This record gives sequence, C-alpha cells and structure tokens, in this order.
Amino acid sequence: MTGRDELTSYEYRQIRARILSASDICIVCGHAASDAVDHIHPVSKGGARRDPDNLAPIHGVNGCPVCLRKCNSEKSDRPLADVVQLVTSVDWFAGPSSP
Ligand SMILES: [Zn+2]
Ligand SMILES: [Zn+2]
Repeated sequence: MTGRDELTSYEYRQIRARILSASDICIVCGHAASDAVDHIHPVSKGGARRDPDNLAPIHGVNGCPVCLRKCNSEKSDRPLADVVQLVTSVDWFAGPSSP
C-alpha cells in the first residue's frame, strides 16, 4: 500500500459488473443504460470505497443516451444530494441499512 487505497482496474471492473447486473438505472438522471458506477458517498468524504452498498450505476464518459447528460462528470466528487435535485424514483438516500 502506498497510502492511497485506490481500486485496481480489475477490482473496479468486478464491482462495476456486479452493480450493473443488479441495476443500470443512473443515480443522477434516473435513466437506464448506465455504463459506469460511482460512489454514493464520496470516498474523499469518508464513503466506503469497496462497499457495493456505496456504489451505484451512473452514466460514464459516453453520457446518457436519453438525456445526453454526462452524469459522472457532473457528479464528480460532490455528494449525490448536491447533484440530484430532481430526484428519481429510487430512494438512495435512505440507504440499505435503514429499516
Ligand atoms: Zn445518467
Ligand atoms: Zn439520462
């Protein structure tokens, strides 16, 4: 370890495949066909880097085929709540640990 605990690209692909097989609904715009995953709580803000519960589908470099937003670059490392104003049907904020 060199201080920074980055995911390797192999680990990222594994995690991404698992997340996207469960759902490909983008957390930012709410449309399907996400091709990337991102942290719901930014790792820089203390979010768990490897926890699948902290990862969600998002549109990557190709953007959303429906609304054409570049969701991942819009979100960057901001908290999801800052980005998602026009909330989707998925209540990500409740989190899987809520009863
Ligand atoms: Zn999107
Ligand atoms: Zn969209």
